[in-house]
Amino acid sequence: MSIAVTSHITPCRFYGEGAWRASSAEAASDVFDPSTGEIIGRVPHLTAAEVDATVRAAHEAFRSWRNVSPFVRARYLFKYRELLDRHRDDIARGITREHGKTLEDARGSVQRGIEVVEFACGIPTLLMGETLEQVSGGVDCYSVRQPLGVCVGITPFNFPVMVPLWMLPLAIACGNTFVLKPSDKVPHTAQRLVELLYEAGLPPSVVSLVHGGPAQVEALIDHPLVRAVSIVGSTAAASSVYARAAARGKRVQALGGAKNHMVALPDADVERTVDSIIGSAFGSAGQRCMAGSVLIAVGDAADRLLPRLVARAGAMRVDAGTCEGVEMGPMITADQRRRAESYIDIGVGEGAVLALDGRRNAPRSGGFFLGATILDHVKPGMRVARDEIFGPVLSIVRVDTLDDALALIAQSPMGNAAVIFTRDAGSIRTFVREADAGMIGVNVGVPVPVAVFPFSGWKQSFFGDLHAHGKDGVRFYTASKIVTSRVSR
Ligand code: NAD
Repeated sequence: MSIAVTSHITPCRFYGEGAWRASSAEAASDVFDPSTGEIIGRVPHLTAAEVDATVRAAHEAFRSWRNVSPFVRARYLFKYRELLDRHRDDIARGITREHGKTLEDARGSVQRGIEVVEFACGIPTLLMGETLEQVSGGVDCYSVRQPLGVCVGITPFNFPVMVPLWMLPLAIACGNTFVLKPSDKVPHTAQRLVELLYEAGLPPSVVSLVHGGPAQVEALIDHPLVRAVSIVGSTAAASSVYARAAARGKRVQALGGAKNHMVALPDADVERTVDSIIGSAFGSAGQRCMAGSVLIAVGDAADRLLPRLVARAGAMRVDAGTCEGVEMGPMITADQRRRAESYIDIGVGEGAVLALDGRRNAPRSGGFFLGATILDHVKPGMRVARDEIFGPVLSIVRVDTLDDALALIAQSPMGNAAVIFTRDAGSIRTFVREADAGMIGVNVGVPVPVAVFPFSGWKQSFFGDLHAHGKDGVRFYTASKIVTSRVSR
């Protein structure tokens, strides 16, 4: 629900019907600088008429954009890539300002987004179909991939640049037009992404930007001119969008929440494993769908890793993302921090041992800070082992064997990522084959696939068939048409 809170800040603009516009909506929500708690912006929650007009204009733009040669469409993306590269530092600062993550993390996420644009620049090759000559006397058969029409993308707060770029470069490269609905917590970075597209010379309304929350998402899904829906968000949002869009016959890819497991075997290299676990569990204050939030320690691995882990995590510098040497920034909102803190109490109440309390290691400013927290002796049934906390809280579950670890991963309703730390080739092979998750890391804490591969969550971390980016992205944003052709002399 959106509430009008702040009247002295001008709400951000949206892009619809070929121009930047001020919304006439009364409903709006505030945007915070999470490192100070200050209000830095205000997002209008667009009226139904504004959403409708934006989609209609995107549909109109599609009629000509679909006829633009893939080579020319790629040239816009080459220009866009250059602009993103030129402005990468400003964009990263914008992310840090409204999201809070460290500048280093923000820069890394911009780079990951740029890589999808680079992948989409290869669209003439990626779109090529297949041909089979002489399937019958004088008859040839071939396939082409055609764009769908207006596609929409609904994105979360935690990757304000990278996640929109998982979607829009490929959507428009394939010849679709695209309407982005970013998280209302990070609207300014999304606005910058769209501004740069038009600096690159993109024809009007090929990409549009609308603001709001669930009501605006529902209006987009229900719009008869919208053909495909991509969402990245919590499992609750992803599953509801999936059901609503599928019921209306739309193509949909819905990426949901996560509870990722990291398995450490007793032979794992202590220094490297601890470094990877720290980056995975506490990077971006644990607000990543690829965060490792449960460490399953096999045999005596916990005793070997824990002293170093607690020392490293306890010494992490937690501060505003722009500070020199900072390793962890704030959480996105006061509510999210409260929620993560409540899980520390829940874990202790359920019998876990608090090996490191991040509430003692956070700056006492107005920002939404929580330090790295480690709960040891967590049991599989506990809520801290099951629920997505989406904060810097690591749970350690101790088990006897790799098979026990694989069984725990299989029991999890989520299936984004699973990671193993070991030097044993046989265990690695077993893990890669058996772990019940879609993205696997071997001695790598955050196994995010590079742009040419799809982002392949499983179970309740993904609803749909074709994943984001990679060749799946091209298939998602196109329909294949098969031509059987008899041409006689
Ligand atoms: P969120 O679900 O609150 O919001 C995501 C987007 O969906 C926003 O644009 C929001 O306005 C919209 N939305 C929210 N509820 C909705 C509803 N009921 N109906 C329609 N639209 C709705 O998520 P968030 O807090 O912004 O982001 C964090 C979540 O996203 C975490 O659960 C995280 O794991 C997940 N995430 C997943 C991936 C992935 O690749 N699987 C990547 C990044 C984040």
